[in-house]
Amino acid sequence: MAECQKQSLAILGSTGSIGVQTLEVVKHHPERFEVYALTANNNADLLIAQARAFEPEVVVIANQALYTKVKDSLADLPIKVWTGTDSVADVATMQPVDTVVVALVGYSALQPVIKAIEANKKIALANKECLVVAGQLVTSLALKYHCPILPIDSEHSAVFQCLLGEQETAVDRIILTASGGPFRTINDLSNVTPAQALNHPTWNMGAKITIDSASMMNKGFEVMEAKWLFGIDVDHIDVVVHPQSIIHSLVQFKDGSVKAQLGNPDMRIPIQLALTYPERIETEVKKLDLTTCGNLTFEKPDKQRFRNLSLAYEAMHQGGNIPCALNAANEIAVHAFLNEKISFLGMSDLIANVISRTPFIATPTYDNYVETDKLARQMTEALINNH
Ligand code: MG
Repeated sequence: MAECQKQSLAILGSTGSIGVQTLEVVKHHPERFEVYALTANNNADLLIAQARAFEPEVVVIANQALYTKVKDSLADLPIKVWTGTDSVADVATMQPVDTVVVALVGYSALQPVIKAIEANKKIALANKECLVVAGQLVTSLALKYHCPILPIDSEHSAVFQCLLGEQETAVDRIILTASGGPFRTINDLSNVTPAQALNHPTWNMGAKITIDSASMMNKGFEVMEAKWLFGIDVDHIDVVVHPQSIIHSLVQFKDGSVKAQLGNPDMRIPIQLALTYPERIETEVKKLDLTTCGNLTFEKPDKQRFRNLSLAYEAMHQGGNIPCALNAANEIAVHAFLNEKISFLGMSDLIANVISRTPFIATPTYDNYVETDKLARQMTEALINNH
């Protein structure tokens, strides 16, 4: 393939789990991809190493205190070094970029995603919070700008694959699988620690999403993500616990037929497909062997024990700006739990409290979301401090 035909990538959040695995995919297919921009918040050392290995045009270290360090370390290379969170959104819009890989954590992805869509980029989306917070806005903009959003989240990649070649009207239900996380078999969650919560049985991920998986907030978020990505009402989206993480999700059709997507749990498969679709090419991932992968089991999620999942459904049914408040409260609560300021179950109490106090806005604008996010964060912080 000629040099000019390579797909040019901006990888937002390149030092996180998805960013690192995206670069593994790039490294395995250097004939296909080139890295135009890399961004990181705080991990300057890894960003510097990645910049040396992949020689992008631009790197962004969002934390301004680390700018000089990154700049000096790369002084011998023709790489532009930028800083500040606005620069993250700026690189997503640059003319030579074909695809923006959004691997940022949490709410911080919203502004860069909107800017990238407005700049007509293909979006390979690993961040679900931008759809939880502002799914209506993001998907309507993507429609307006004819901008494809390809899911990297394993469940949504699975659903996307199951829907290929099918008519929209033929779909009855989406069935999202959940591993159940480390606490699936623990009855009393009142004393579980951050270290226990961070020990995920099947997926190796960043801290925020691993805690969300342990509390099942992640699955609630994924229901919202599916609603917006595939235009399906939440009452037609089910969650089933499947601890082996071999079936990544399923679609049931009106005739009773069910399609599923399977594979070993390795994010390089959905990452690569989001980049190469409609092509499928080799990965380094071990192929699935059904005769050795053991029994595949399924159970109902326990919404009583995992109250965050109920709270997510409640927020979805309320709609408007409530999922935005849910997300903000959750981000602060996860942070406080990781810092041992609140208990695991305390996270749900906080979130319930904050969403019940959030002034409802039925059809929020971007500014309404920004305001709701800010207010919900302040409320959550205040509740933690007055605890
Ligand atoms: Mg997922």
